[in-house]
Amino acid sequence: MPRIRVITFDLDNTLWDVRTVIGNAEHRMRAWLAEHVPEVIELYEDGAVIQQIRDELISEQPAVVHDLSTLREEVVFRAVRRCGRNENAARQLAQGAFCEFFEARHEVEYFDGALEALAALSKRYTLGSLTNGNADAKKLRLDRFFSFNFTAAGVGIGKPAPDMFQAALRHNGVSADAAVHIGDHPVDDIQAAQNVGMHTVWTNGPVQRSMRRSEVVIEPTVEIEELAELTGAIEQIEAL
Ligand SMILES: [Mg+2]
Repeated sequence: MPRIRVITFDLDNTLWDVRTVIGNAEHRMRAWLAEHVPEVIELYEDGAVIQQIRDELISEQPAVVHDLSTLREEVVFRAVRRCGRNENAARQLAQGAFCEFFEARHEVEYFDGALEALAALSKRYTLGSLTNGNADAKKLRLDRFFSFNFTAAGVGIGKPAPDMFQAALRHNGVSADAAVHIGDHPVDDIQAAQNVGMHTVWTNGPVQRSMRRSEVVIEPTVEIEELAELTGAIEQIEAL
């Protein structure tokens, strides 16, 4: 078996708790909207309207689900238009609101051991990120550790489709059995990476378990509770 050369990381809920990050970013975006276009807040408070706008947009442009930034900004744009603002004004307001969201979305609090594990592993392996979300690894200064980053928006389709995993393998010129994917999601991360032939480490601690509605049965190469166990997990895979 070739030794491991490349390690890919999911971001949200693997390196930080996404609920607090998105909750805070939503809050900041609404505060910005309340200041700049107060009448739209009523729509946001009646979640059903925003949901309807979102559903309509997705049915018109199904590919937008792989580009959460565009999706979010476009929903704001349409909500502001509904409040009677003209197209130019609505576009500017949507961009301003999204900017506020995007800044706050990058104020992440890493799980214990995350940065230490990335620092240690980056000395021995080529690391990169594969995310369905809109976290920008460069904006987070994760390019200290990551030499490549693929996103659903950039690749055109999110995990569990094989495309992002295959893009990472191709980019690094390695076969799947020389690569490990680390992630929290049983299907999007673990089963999807296994389907392309990669090794997997499932980060399945109390935070991740608390977000799951039902028990899942999967067989990752290694399962860990916290990121402090990650370098040991990689050593375990190396020893297979
Ligand atoms: Mg995740």
